[in-house]
Amino acid sequence: MTSHLLIPFSSTPVESIAPTVSRLQNTFTSLKTHPFEYREEQLRKLYWGVKDNEQRLVQALKADLGKPYFEAMVTEVDWIGIEILYILKNLRKWAADDKMELPFLHRLVLSPCIRKEPMGTVLVIGAFNYPALLALIPLIGVIAAGNTAVIKPSEQAPNAAAIITRILESSLDPEAYAVINGGIPESTELLNQKFDKICYTGNAAVGRIIATAAAKHLTPAILELGGLNPCIITKSADAKLAAKRIAWGKVHNSGQVCLCPNYVIIHPSLETEFVGAFIQTLKKFFPEGASKSPDLARIVNKRHYHRITELLNKTKGTILYGGERDESKLFIEPTLVKITSTEDSLLSEEIFGPLLPMLVVEDLDKMISVARQVGDCPLALYIFSGEKEEEEKILKNIRSGGATINDVFFHAAIPSIAFGGVGESGTGSYRGKASFDAFVHRRPVVNQPLWMEGQLRMRYPPFTPKKLDL
Ligand code: NAD
Repeated sequence: MTSHLLIPFSSTPVESIAPTVSRLQNTFTSLKTHPFEYREEQLRKLYWGVKDNEQRLVQALKADLGKPYFEAMVTEVDWIGIEILYILKNLRKWAADDKMELPFLHRLVLSPCIRKEPMGTVLVIGAFNYPALLALIPLIGVIAAGNTAVIKPSEQAPNAAAIITRILESSLDPEAYAVINGGIPESTELLNQKFDKICYTGNAAVGRIIATAAAKHLTPAILELGGLNPCIITKSADAKLAAKRIAWGKVHNSGQVCLCPNYVIIHPSLETEFVGAFIQTLKKFFPEGASKSPDLARIVNKRHYHRITELLNKTKGTILYGGERDESKLFIEPTLVKITSTEDSLLSEEIFGPLLPMLVVEDLDKMISVARQVGDCPLALYIFSGEKEEEEKILKNIRSGGATINDVFFHAAIPSIAFGGVGESGTGSYRGKASFDAFVHRRPVVNQPLWMEGQLRMRYPPFTPKKLDL
């Protein structure tokens, strides 16, 4: 969508990357970022940095993705503020040492605890679809946990990246936090450095590059990936409500959401009602037509526009609604397509756009096997059903990062609930307490009393028969 730059966006010189990381590592070693007062101050400054720049951020998201004001505020700007306040409220409680259960004998003398210690210097790599959210929500956890960090926003959303850079550079301690901008050369140079943890959000192909680079340094990595998220509508479902809720999930950010309902598997008895309600819903959402609506985001760039339209060009399915597109405006109409095969182009990859393929499948076992065939371990699973037993059966038989029953997105919309994938959709999780936990090392510490030496003498060689009680 980016047609113009609101403020200049420039890549960071590659040769400055290693010295920057080294500076942050030195700051970490100096223990500057460890005190709670420091962490809380940085979080408060970040909060106000985002608040002071919220209109600029909203404009940037409009320029990069055509993101509607409401979506920009609710799913990026406000969310970041809520996350900071939530973490500030709970930080000291979460950071307190955990006391351990002990066997009786040990209890007499030892007082072991698990300390939550900062890990070091963390690399956060964000993706374009929620450029502010995906860069800043992990960063909030990184700061709360007492680490230093490099933040690499997505270059595919250059306006947002420029505003994020301005916010971070004007709010946070430059000795502890740095923004690196750019694409593959800059990311590659970053990955040559040794970090103590990496948090990457993006596609699985690059996820494998990140995991390989991390492995060279034995660096643990959180990988927040995507997948082909199924919506399974069983014969006991409320088809009209399912249609409305899935339509909302499909048009949100024009389908450029990792949790987006990717495809529908529906029982034949509900097909007509679902299709009618889906079309009616879209007409209500966009009364003047989607192409004229300011309430529908646009596709991020030409590469993704062509990728998505190619999937539509190649489908063997029947377009039931939509299909309009306009390259000059990077516009793709929300489109419902009835397909008949799992080999269809629309199921060949995560769509990440406003197309919704629909497969009609007779029985529940078949629905489950179709979903398993289409994609292993999606990030989200959506079950529309009126029967607990059906829900349980689907949950047990289809693995996914998270699941919502009778709606979309909600398992990932609650700040206190960890968010992450499994298998192909990623590894590790963050948000709220999970963000704090993700960026601390749980370090057991035991203090052995000096007077225990008498009792401990038996552990030292030589292991004489007397010691062994022979
Ligand atoms: P993108 O193009 O913005 O890339 C993501 C990041 O990877 C960027 O910062 C980019 O600079 C970096 N990158 C690209 N190539 C690289 C390379 N060779 N080496 C190192 N870094 C590189 O976004 P994308 O990957 O197209 O994002 C869309 C995907 O992300 C979808 O699959 C979506 O489901 C997934 N996603 C997941 C989540 C989640 O939280 N699980 C959230 C958003 C998006």
